[in-house]
Amino acid sequence: MKACVLHSIAPVEKAPLDFADVPTPQPARREVLVRVKFCGVCRTDLHVVEGELPPKKSPVIPGHQIVGVVERTGEGATRFKVGSRVGIPWLHKTDQVCQYCRACMENLCDDPTFTGYTVDGGYAEYTVAPEDFVYTMPDSFPDMQAAPLLCAGIIGFRSLRLSGIKSGGRLAFYGFGAAAHIAIQVARHWGVEVYACTRGAKHQQLALEFGAAWAGEAAAEPPAKLDAAIIFAPAGELVPPALKALKKGGVLVLGGIHMSPVPSLDYDLLYHERVVRSVANNTRQDGEDFLRIAAEIPIRTNVALYPLQDANRALVDLKSDRINGAAVLDCRV
Ligand SMILES: [Zn+2]
Ligand SMILES: [Zn+2]
Repeated sequence: MKACVLHSIAPVEKAPLDFADVPTPQPARREVLVRVKFCGVCRTDLHVVEGELPPKKSPVIPGHQIVGVVERTGEGATRFKVGSRVGIPWLHKTDQVCQYCRACMENLCDDPTFTGYTVDGGYAEYTVAPEDFVYTMPDSFPDMQAAPLLCAGIIGFRSLRLSGIKSGGRLAFYGFGAAAHIAIQVARHWGVEVYACTRGAKHQQLALEFGAAWAGEAAAEPPAKLDAAIIFAPAGELVPPALKALKKGGVLVLGGIHMSPVPSLDYDLLYHERVVRSVANNTRQDGEDFLRIAAEIPIRTNVALYPLQDANRALVDLKSDRINGAAVLDCRV
């Protein structure tokens, strides 16, 4: 099969992904082989390719927002029929026995595997995944539009949940890329007023198109005090201005897997019971709940499509803020 393979980490401008022929993977016990149609490009892929996340497997095929069809089932895999339309997310597998898994917090599992990082992912024509960690994709989304739901969507949804935001509340997004442009639709559906603090007129315009009450620069002060804020940009320097924008008791959620250092804070910014918390991965329940609500709303995604062999270019465009919405690879080679 064709795949984009990372042999060694490097800045994406050096085109580190090699478009090559590699053996098609075989489904192990209770796994499914999926023919990939589309794979979303996530900022985490950028962190994998450039090495902000320590390498765990080499060579590795990145990509963890996979929409495709079941091509073959491994021994004992009975959940999906051949031809089923499925989605594969970041959370590839958990051990299901550690203290976190037993406490319904499998997102914090002590021994997890991650798609496109610790195991090969979806920048390829085929991929394999354990059937228990694969989602049935609702029919309401075209394949291409569905790909960004599988990480940007699910992680954005978990971030919303952890923010504790409720109907009538005020919420800000810092950074308005793939995750925020989906999360705003859920927040608006819940009756939340949304503010967008993000670099560049194009991203601000996108936020207003999706119903933001206000949009301004990344460190700008929103015109009203907020109940909660979510930082999707990988920029630790946004923590102090975001805390400053919160009401007493407000919650600041850090939605990324990697962030530049957070500068020191005046305790005043945190006092009055303000909370800062990160988001790590997702549970399968988050994914199921999000895909259900996404189909109900229904969520629409802004997609920039690239052929699989142009994955390096997609990552360069993501890094330089040139994508309005989400980048997606067409893996139907
Ligand atoms: Zn576990
Ligand atoms: Zn992701």
